[in-house]
Amino acid sequence: MLITKGRVVTFGAANEIIEDGAVRVDGDRITDVGHAARLQAAYPDDEVVDAGGQLIMPGNICAHTHFYGAFARGMAIPGDPARDFPEILDKLWWRLDRALLAEDVRYSALVCLIDAIKHGTTTLIDHHASPAVIAGSLDEIAAAVTQAGVRASLCYEVTDRNGPQEARAGIDENVRFLHAARDAGNPLLAASFGLHASLTLSDKTLADSVAAAAGLDTGFHIHAAEGTSDEEDSLRRSGKRVVERLGDAGILGPKSILVHCVHVDAWEMELLRDTGTWVTHQPRSNMNNAVGVAPVETMLRGGVRVGLGNDGFSNNMWEEWKAAYLLHKLWHGDPRRMGGYDVVKMAVTNNAALARVFWPAAPVGEIAPGAYADLILVDYHPYTALTAGNLPWHIIFGFEASAITGTMCGGRWLMRDRRLLTLDEAEIAARARELSAGAWRRYAAPGD
Ligand SMILES: [Zn+2]
Repeated sequence: MLITKGRVVTFGAANEIIEDGAVRVDGDRITDVGHAARLQAAYPDDEVVDAGGQLIMPGNICAHTHFYGAFARGMAIPGDPARDFPEILDKLWWRLDRALLAEDVRYSALVCLIDAIKHGTTTLIDHHASPAVIAGSLDEIAAAVTQAGVRASLCYEVTDRNGPQEARAGIDENVRFLHAARDAGNPLLAASFGLHASLTLSDKTLADSVAAAAGLDTGFHIHAAEGTSDEEDSLRRSGKRVVERLGDAGILGPKSILVHCVHVDAWEMELLRDTGTWVTHQPRSNMNNAVGVAPVETMLRGGVRVGLGNDGFSNNMWEEWKAAYLLHKLWHGDPRRMGGYDVVKMAVTNNAALARVFWPAAPVGEIAPGAYADLILVDYHPYTALTAGNLPWHIIFGFEASAITGTMCGGRWLMRDRRLLTLDEAEIAARARELSAGAWRRYAAPGD
């Protein structure tokens, strides 16, 4: 298939914008990129898709999300408003996740996947919790992901907050799914080993998790130093700061993701860099939880690999770009902070490299021969010069996710002309409204 008459934004090593460009897709890969005239002459028998002057860009990547959080939208939280992050966990997330049953898990994922496809996010790294249904819960999400046709890596968050049996069940679900994802025969599906956060994990559960993961060729996906409470707990528990404690437990490494890292100190950053551990930044979530601002510019400058996630906020990654760009300026009182290239470094370059941990066979996040055919069509017509050099500012100040008219993942169209092709939004939303009403009842009256 030839997608022609577009302005091709390649990202990747080439990082250029090809005017009157074309992209050739064969199977799940991109096989050629260049000027439309050359490609049309070279592949005269290919089916032609006319992009009509739109941008042809790589699909967006989300380095950390929670499909399970979708049913929180519009839900009343009883009692006084949560006054800090531990209260938010206690009043909202640790009661909502327990209210989810198996079908809720599936539909909570489906509504997020609709959101992702409409907003051009084709690769997602999810972190799941549903303590009432642990065993098999990742299969529910995998079914939703397979139906949607996006690229996703899944894990279950192991925690001690619900006792040793549920901690063990979480470990077992990760191990089961790491095998299942490999056996599934779906190249879009991947797995990791999920852990909640240092503050809900005993030394024994950390050791049990590391032992269970041995030989599975996996890293870990864990929240770290999101609030000050995580650092305080770790110091109380172990005399070590969070990243040091996780390092000593065997959690760090080039396949592991530490989410947030808002309160890490210099030596923790050095440890993150020296172990090649991934960090993800979620500025909208950090603002909403009022936990502070992660020192991501410092980490990027020093060589820590920082990507950009959304923490379940919404799957419109350009909104996360904008939040990152604005937050650091306000926080530091300096408009020079968090330039566009730092945002691109996280959202494009590092997210693409992180995706390679889960999909090593070919690159994502770039339009180049050999890369996976994960791309979007964007109905954006610049009224000032658009170059590879100033593209970040066009995205931050000009791009709206509503301009995305087409989404392709692994060579398959998931949306064309703004019409979803794999998921029925009205039907899924209707069922999700029925199911979420039940989840809200169980949330309001746990144990009923
Ligand atoms: Zn999170």
